[in-house]
Amino acid sequence: MSKTIIFLGPPGAGKGTQSQLLKERDGFVQISTGDILREAVKSQTPLGIEAKKFMDEGKLVPDELIINLIAEKLEELENKNIIFDGFPRTVPQAEALKELLIKKGRKIDAVVLFLIPDEEVVKRLAGRRVCPNCGAVYHILYNPPKKDEICDKCGTPLIQRDDDKEEVIKRRLEVYHQQTATLIDYYKDSIVKVDATANPEEVYKTIKSVL
Ligand code: ADP
Ligand code: AMP
Repeated sequence: MSKTIIFLGPPGAGKGTQSQLLKERDGFVQISTGDILREAVKSQTPLGIEAKKFMDEGKLVPDELIINLIAEKLEELENKNIIFDGFPRTVPQAEALKELLIKKGRKIDAVVLFLIPDEEVVKRLAGRRVCPNCGAVYHILYNPPKKDEICDKCGTPLIQRDDDKEEVIKRRLEVYHQQTATLIDYYKDSIVKVDATANPEEVYKTIKSVL
């Protein structure tokens, strides 16, 4: 049966970085609700226009919008090994996912919890740079591009995400602790904890060993 993995953890924990590695090396498909929403914002679709207000403030986008977009996405992904990155983020989202997976004959194989202190998250998010063209993720100190502020993969100038500004980072961390961390208890029987402060290769090895 196809694998279904959830990456749970605060913003900046390295979920996207690890999803990318599992995608390149192991053929997983990454479903990042954050990426899907940013794409919608860029193309100014009705979803993007609605979502932007919440994203700019570091708040969660309403569950109904997120659940609809996941339901649509799952239709395209029969027989694929999936990583949900940044979804679910609330109990209603987790409940909806449970129902959707049952309909597709899938089950959750593991919920990988990324453990990292808030201070480290702040440093990671403040230094994060992303490629607006191919989505590659860098860090000015921990994972700098070869050429200053230019994407190694496609040569596009890198940008800082609007929500990686200091005030918004603080809000996003609060939202994680208030609304998303309850999922640690919700998924307690499937959780595997990973030390996310290690370097990306070590984190990758740990994740592979538990999958
Ligand atoms: P998330 O998807 O959980 O929000 P990202 O994968 O985008 O997190 O990582 C946040 C920032 O931290 C990025 O700048 C990334 O380059 C950097 N980063 C990711 N994993 C590590 C790691 N293991 N060690 C140091 N920096 C990391
Ligand atoms: P991320 O890229 O995962 O850090 O998400 C960026 C922003 O998109 C979040 O701060 C939320 O505003 C929104 N978002 C992403 N995923 C979800 C989700 N599952 N539920 C609600 N909002 C989300």
